[in-house]
Amino acid sequence: MTAAPASPATPSLPPWLLSPWSALQGARRANRFPHALLLTGPLGVGKRLLVEALARSLLCPRTDARGFACGQCPDCLLLAAGTHPDLVRVGPDEETKSGEIRVDAIRALAGTEGLTAHRGGWKLILIDPAHRMNVSAANALLKTLEEPAPSTLMCLVSEQPSRLTATIRSRCQALRLALPAEAEALAWLTPQVRGLNAATLLHLAHGAPLRALELADKERLAVRDKLFAGFVAVAQGQRDPLAEAAAWNEADPALLLDWLSGWLSDLLRLAGARGPAPAEIPAEMLAKVPPEMPARVPAEVQANWHEAASHTPDNERYSHDFHAKVPAKVSCEVPAAAMGAGQAQATTTPRLINSDKQAALTTLAARVAPAAGHRLLRRIWQAGGGDTSNLNRLLLYETWLLDWARLTSAPPPALSVGRPPSSSSPVSASRLSSSQAR
Ligand SMILES: [Zn+2]
Repeated sequence: MTAAPASPATPSLPPWLLSPWSALQGARRANRFPHALLLTGPLGVGKRLLVEALARSLLCPRTDARGFACGQCPDCLLLAAGTHPDLVRVGPDEETKSGEIRVDAIRALAGTEGLTAHRGGWKLILIDPAHRMNVSAANALLKTLEEPAPSTLMCLVSEQPSRLTATIRSRCQALRLALPAEAEALAWLTPQVRGLNAATLLHLAHGAPLRALELADKERLAVRDKLFAGFVAVAQGQRDPLAEAAAWNEADPALLLDWLSGWLSDLLRLAGARGPAPAEIPAEMLAKVPPEMPARVPAEVQANWHEAASHTPDNERYSHDFHAKVPAKVSCEVPAAAMGAGQAQATTTPRLINSDKQAALTTLAARVAPAAGHRLLRRIWQAGGGDTSNLNRLLLYETWLLDWARLTSAPPPALSVGRPPSSSSPVSASRLSSSQAR
């Protein structure tokens, strides 16, 4: 046994992953390790960190007391070099535009999986992201799962497990990573994002710390600022929607979708906050709140809904219903109430994903009719949930921005009764003149 310092091959896990790590190591020591593991949880919670640490742990013969790989042995060196013969990675076919995992990749696996591990220990097969398997690939995998080979671990990683077939899910042991509490996430994040606001980043990342770290990029944040300015300018009639769509088309589509749905969700929360007095929350809605939710702080609940909405069609409907039926004020207060009176903090300003844009969003919220805003948000979610690679993105952005311009130019119908006179007329006039100027 050598007391070697931790090498780069053995990074320690962030604190919120230590409990699932111990659970996995406990199962391993007790010889209760599954032959197929389905690792799920929101994007940026650390699924890949955990699965990579697990791969190193299973393939290293000299793990420490907590099960972490030594980082020094021949197996660890092979892993670090990416050439370990007993770690097989299966991912989307880079040749295909659709980003699918194709049947050939799974069939090739079935061919080699029957073989014993080259180096006599575990054999690990990582399928990531597993929900990208097309139907034939999923069927081929099912056959492999039905005839497990000894000392072989199939590890499926997915943000969208609902897109996997029930038959595959039922043959895997599920491990769902939950978002850490905000304080824990901030304690980890803050020292790593010096010069930037960790709380804002964490909200933008819907509570997922690794995603927040990824967003802590000044250039990327500048792009967000620019696109947000365009979004506001279109609403104010100061920017041509079609020109803005062309600018959006230059941005990373996944990020843009995420930002845009965040802006709209916040707008609807703000619009809800100035709406009618909160009604009782229907019991069937509360019944759908995931069990871990009541223990969480309000921002995370918001984040969870949003995360769910972005990634799982099942929850998307619920999240939409939640937004549509429950005023934002209440959606903040539900978890606070559930947490118990001691920690409950009634608030009339909803917690926002884009807390740094609150002033501009509040101004915009006053001009958006909630129902129309929800319809637009829903369409954006639908585009995000599906595979947009084959769509004409520019056309999609143009449609959304034209809708957005329409949505913000007219005074909100019916619901606007009693609201101060809106400034729609000058805006329409300025839109007209600005589009003529182009
Ligand atoms: Zn080792």
